[in-house]
Amino acid sequence: MTKNITSYIMPTYGKRKLEIVKGKGVYLYSKDKKKYLDFGSGIAVTSLGHCNSILIKAINEQSKRLWHTSNLYYSESQEKYAALLCKNSFAEKVFFTNSGTESIECGLKVIRSYYYHQSIEKKNIITFEGAFHGRTFAALSAQQNNKYSEFFQPLLPGFIQVPFNDIKSLEKNVNETTAAIMIETIQGEGGIRTVPLSFLDKIKNICIKNDLLFFLDEVQSGFGRSGKLFSYQWSNIEPDIMAIAKGIGSGFPMGACLATNKASTYMTKGTHGSTFGGNPLAVAVGTAVINEIMSKDFLEKVDKVSRYLWKELVSLQNNFNEIVEVRGAGLLLGIKTKSNNAEISNLFETHGLLTIPASDNVVRLSPPLIINKHDVDYAIQIIKKALESN
Ligand code: PLP
Repeated sequence: MTKNITSYIMPTYGKRKLEIVKGKGVYLYSKDKKKYLDFGSGIAVTSLGHCNSILIKAINEQSKRLWHTSNLYYSESQEKYAALLCKNSFAEKVFFTNSGTESIECGLKVIRSYYYHQSIEKKNIITFEGAFHGRTFAALSAQQNNKYSEFFQPLLPGFIQVPFNDIKSLEKNVNETTAAIMIETIQGEGGIRTVPLSFLDKIKNICIKNDLLFFLDEVQSGFGRSGKLFSYQWSNIEPDIMAIAKGIGSGFPMGACLATNKASTYMTKGTHGSTFGGNPLAVAVGTAVINEIMSKDFLEKVDKVSRYLWKELVSLQNNFNEIVEVRGAGLLLGIKTKSNNAEISNLFETHGLLTIPASDNVVRLSPPLIINKHDVDYAIQIIKKALESN
C-alpha cells in the first residue's frame, strides 16, 4: 500500500508553523533562530519557566532512582506530596491524574459515587455557559459547547447548563435531582471571564442549603496563577472537590483531583485507577513545584508583578482603540480586541511575543509566574510596537 502522507499526526490543531526548539526562563527559541518572550506558557502550564534548574535537578535525581512502579505499591514520597497538596488547600484526599480532563473525570465520579452509595436520587450536575472542562466525553457533556462536541454525539446525560454569573437562573435550576455545581473560578478558554467572589459565596450557600457538592475547576486558574496557590483562596468559600493540572508540574504532564474526606468517602478500592497518575517522576517534579511556589515571597511577587502588568495593559487600552477591554486576574489576563483576536495574537508573535487566543475575541496573557517588572516592560513595548504597526 502506498501512503500519501505529509504528516503522521492527526491534524486536530490545524497547520502549525512555528517550531520551538529550546526554552530558558521566560524565553523560547525557534528553529529559525528567533527569540520569543513567552506570555502563553504552553496554555498556562510552565509556571516556573522553561528548563528551571530546580526542576531539572529534581527530575534528574529521580530519573536515576526510579521511573515507574504502580499505584498498587505504597510510595512514601507520593504520600508526602499528597499531604503537601492537602495542607495547602481545603482537601483531605488526593487522586493523581495525568491531565486536567482526567482530574475533572475523577471529580465527576466522586460526585456520582457520593449519592449512589447513599441511595439518593441526585444525579444532575449544573455547569455554566462558556465553561471549558476538557475533551473527554464527560467533560464535553459538562461544558455543552458545540464547538468542541458537534461531531461526537451522543453525549452523556446528567448535565444542566445555566448562564454565567446569573444567580436567578442558577436558583431556578436547582431541584431534588441536583447533585453538584461545577465551575471554573476564572473561565480560561471561555475568554478569561472571572467569576465574582460574591457569586462563589452564593453558590456555596446554595450548596449548603440543598446538600449539594461544590466542584471547582482550577485546572487553569490554580497553582499560583492568581497570586494565591488556588484562586478560590481569594474568597471565603471552600469547595468539596477540585480539579487541578497545568501549572502543577510546570510542563511535566500531571494533574490531581482533590476532595474532602466526606465527598470522597466512597472512592474505595477498585472504584477508580490510573496506570501513570502520581508516578515517581511526576511526584518528584510536583513536589519541587509546590515547594517553590510556597517558598517565602514567591506568591507575593506574583501578585505584585500581575498588578503591574494589569496597570500597564490598562494604560495601553487608553491609547489604543484596538484594546476593547482588559480582564482576568493575577497572571491569567485577557485583552479583548476589536479585530480578530487570532490575527492580533499572530501580530504579537511576529514582533516576538507569544500569547494564546481564547473565546470571546480575547488574546490571553498567561506568562510564567517567574516574570519580573523588566519582562512586563518588554512585553508592553512589543504590544505597543505591534499595535502601532497595525
Ligand atoms: N479545565 C480547564 C479549566 C482547562 O482550562 C482545561 C484545559 O485547557 C482543562 C480542564 C482540560 O485540561 P487538559 O487539557 O490538561 O486535559
